[in-house]
Amino acid sequence: MQTIDKFNFSGQKAFVRVDFNVPLDEKFNITDDTRIRAAIPTLKKILSDGGSLIIASHLGRPDGVTGKYSLKHILGRISELLGIPVEFANDCLGTEAVEKSAALKAGQALLLENLRFYAAEEGKPRGLAKDAPEEEVAAAKKAEKANQKEMAKQLASYATVYVNDAFGTAHRAHASTAIIADYFDVEHKLFGYLMQNEIDAVEKVLKNTVHPFTAIMGGSKVSSKIDIIENLLTKVDNLIIAGGMTYTFTKALGGKIGNSIVEDDKLELALSLIRKAKENNVNLVLAVDAKIADNFSNDANTQIVPADEIPEGWEGLDIGPETEKKFAAVIEASKTILWNGPTGVFEFENFTGGSKAVGMAIVKATDNGAFSLIGGGDSVACVNKFGIAGKMSYVSTGGGALLEFIEGKVLPGIKAIRGY
Ligand code: AMP
Repeated sequence: MQTIDKFNFSGQKAFVRVDFNVPLDEKFNITDDTRIRAAIPTLKKILSDGGSLIIASHLGRPDGVTGKYSLKHILGRISELLGIPVEFANDCLGTEAVEKSAALKAGQALLLENLRFYAAEEGKPRGLAKDAPEEEVAAAKKAEKANQKEMAKQLASYATVYVNDAFGTAHRAHASTAIIADYFDVEHKLFGYLMQNEIDAVEKVLKNTVHPFTAIMGGSKVSSKIDIIENLLTKVDNLIIAGGMTYTFTKALGGKIGNSIVEDDKLELALSLIRKAKENNVNLVLAVDAKIADNFSNDANTQIVPADEIPEGWEGLDIGPETEKKFAAVIEASKTILWNGPTGVFEFENFTGGSKAVGMAIVKATDNGAFSLIGGGDSVACVNKFGIAGKMSYVSTGGGALLEFIEGKVLPGIKAIRGY
């Protein structure tokens, strides 16, 4: 398999799939350009080798051509970061894209318009009536799959090499993220630096694990994390359960949780996860105390109580100080750490303490040589908020893609290039 480090792009035209799905304000200014900056090393390497760039991305969830979701809005920022004027093709398919990509010379770059202006990118029919007959739905699906192949083939025709640096969409089998790779031989398809770094970080944690391995799972609901927890139970030494999902476990164990967030239909599941942890000799670490509030707001009255004695009318919005110490001790003794999800409602200043304590314990462990991977929107937001992102071994850019990867799923965008 080719790697971006070894590949010499001199004289090559690279089709680079990036994830430039950045947030824009109402005047179409970029409010956070992290995703663009994350792909710049790959783009610069290709240009400095003497290759040319065809940059392709989606933006938002357009239903057909929509000015609001035009990649024109971000063209200026890409040019600025690359330090060269980047050309634009108003349509990712068709004559203009064909001609402009053919005209590219070494060191030049072209940005294609939003791939998702075409339903074929996702390969799913749009605009079908909800009550459309089954045969009609089946025919539309089949047609869109064929269109997807055609689209992938045309995109591939612009270039001599395919580079996927869009980890954020690696869990999607789209025309530009996976199908396109079929039109390049094994020596001419590769991961960009960002994608490679993401894969390396996850595999370092899940495959080449240095023990003890501790995962901290937080967030609001256990239901959205079941598959991850089940996969982790076969790999970790310690599993710390935090955040809103705690109360489903506490209730299942017979504790009193007051008005705390709970999934009553997942009590059995919580018990089965506790059983599985025991069977696998995993140390399941639950909160011992909670910071509770008399309503769901930053200014609520608060008190610290044992985690299983939350009175009616009160709800747990963060872990308490004893739990902070307990979690920190486990984290600081770890050599591999995965953090997904806050320990409480970190959006409220008065309930950030637990997440901050977890973050600081990870910093300490990382300083002592542990490998720490932070992933999933809210824990990334936490480490950014606390100013400690730079102290983690790796902070993932992938939301859904990272979670599916940790669940143990094969991601289409990865498989398309390396075969698994
Ligand atoms: P998730 O998207 O599932 O990772 O959940 C993240 C969300 O969980 C954040 O918005 C937190 O505010 C929320 N959360 C964490 N702890 C609690 C809690 N004790 N009660 C309610 N929501 C919580």
